Amino acid sequence: MTKHIFVTGGVVSSLGKGLTSASIAMLLESRGLRVKMQKLDPYINVDPGTMSPYQHGEVYVLDDGSETDLDLGHYERFTTTHLTRQSNYTTGQIYQSVINKERRGEFLGKTVQVIPHITNEIKEVVLQLDDADTDVVITEIGGTVGDIESLPFLEAIRQIPLERGRENCMFIHLTLVPFLKAAGELKTKPTQHSVGILRQIGIQPDILVCRTERSLDTSDREKIALFCNVPLNSVIEERDKDFSIYEVPLSLQANKIDDLILKQLDLPAAGAELDGWHDILHRLRNPEHEVSIALVGKYAEHRDAYKSIYEALDHGGIANYTQVRVQAIKSEEIERDGAEKSLAGFDALIVPGGFGERGVEGKVEAIRYARERNLPFLGICLGMQCAVIDFARNVASLTDAHSTEFFRDTPHPVICLMEEQEGVTEKGGTMRLGRQPAKLTDGSTSAIAYGTSEITERHRHRYEFNSGYKQQLEQAGLVIAGTSPDQSLVEIVEVASHPWFVAVQFHPEFKSKPTAAHPLFAGLVAAAVTHHTGAKP
Ligand code: GLN
Repeated sequence: MTKHIFVTGGVVSSLGKGLTSASIAMLLESRGLRVKMQKLDPYINVDPGTMSPYQHGEVYVLDDGSETDLDLGHYERFTTTHLTRQSNYTTGQIYQSVINKERRGEFLGKTVQVIPHITNEIKEVVLQLDDADTDVVITEIGGTVGDIESLPFLEAIRQIPLERGRENCMFIHLTLVPFLKAAGELKTKPTQHSVGILRQIGIQPDILVCRTERSLDTSDREKIALFCNVPLNSVIEERDKDFSIYEVPLSLQANKIDDLILKQLDLPAAGAELDGWHDILHRLRNPEHEVSIALVGKYAEHRDAYKSIYEALDHGGIANYTQVRVQAIKSEEIERDGAEKSLAGFDALIVPGGFGERGVEGKVEAIRYARERNLPFLGICLGMQCAVIDFARNVASLTDAHSTEFFRDTPHPVICLMEEQEGVTEKGGTMRLGRQPAKLTDGSTSAIAYGTSEITERHRHRYEFNSGYKQQLEQAGLVIAGTSPDQSLVEIVEVASHPWFVAVQFHPEFKSKPTAAHPLFAGLVAAAVTHHTGAKP
């Protein structure tokens, strides 16, 4: 029988529930268990696809094209679990499904209510993940206990042990134990209150994971155990990690969280196999090189907007024993001050994806600088489109070349709306999304980096390279390094005369892992080391 672990959070948001859930999953996998992961988000948007990066950070795209919460990125980076549309649900989706059923008459005239109709729907989306090949399903509940929005989710997970047996379910609550400077001590009261709210709902947590900046001493742990009604050894400390998020699973393991879970759920398990993970930390702690990479985007001040890119750059560093320092620069700053002022001294440039006109000229200018100065460059999605615009304008002399996303009547629409997008007016879930195959050109920088000529990558865009300009741009020195298998869509462009200039229409950052850096990020960091030192890493 598949067992269920529910992860909730209390006191404040942004405690790292996603990271903790991913770490627990990784530890269980390291003990030989087969794990599935899922996140339930209490907001009403159907998915985060149309939400502002300021509100929600990056939209993480899965192979099947679903646009999901960025925590799913942690799940994929930390584990081998295969995520699908069934791995992320929002209140919006739950209600949409219930309302559709009501319209189809499936409730036979009954009054449709939060309990039982909404809660039944939630239980269904959790329990659908049960199967003979899955030992444990970990379901993370977004938001903070006490929020109005999360109540139906908490009520639904309260009910699941009634059906599945309490011995087959576990509740893990992540909480904050703040250090009060004035008092000079850690405070457990917020945790007591937060668990109090959970217990009012009918959920008794089995394990408390306490986020804290200082070590909990025995009396803190005893107090938490007593007032929150959990055994002392189930009060697990999770100290802030200044060095790397990849320390989190190891510190949870040092506190024996995996043993506790296995014992309570009565799961057979092998000894932990964590060599690969120790190797990641060894490499992070012992870099042989250091490079600085500029990330030029619209949301420079907002790290979460480019979450997977930051992670993938770290992975590139791990692969090359290199410490990667990333500095985000607002593309509008480059428009104002020029590329030289902002980019001098960097070892590589990365221009990420994006939407909307603001800052586009700054991105084009940054890419021109990287192209002319032989600065290693990786362009992603909009970053690729800007690379094509720069090349068209400044190398192929196509004055005012642009994307029709930003300049509808440009004389040279080198980037244009994809044919399949014409007439699409609905914004949610209608882009070219998810896993698509591509063929690489022999001898290209990309083919060398991947070490293969057939790849699949995840997409999220409406605009594309205008094939009408292919010949003209190729003649000017642009390399078409990757296309869709039927060659109708250009997926990668490079600049032949440049040491490492790769611009891709897809999002390689979504497939990078600390244990297996994405080849393009490993390649970019290696090129940055060469740029910095003149030698190969
Ligand atoms: N705005 C561009 C498009 O829709 C790029 C999208 C992206 O960078 N994800 O094609």
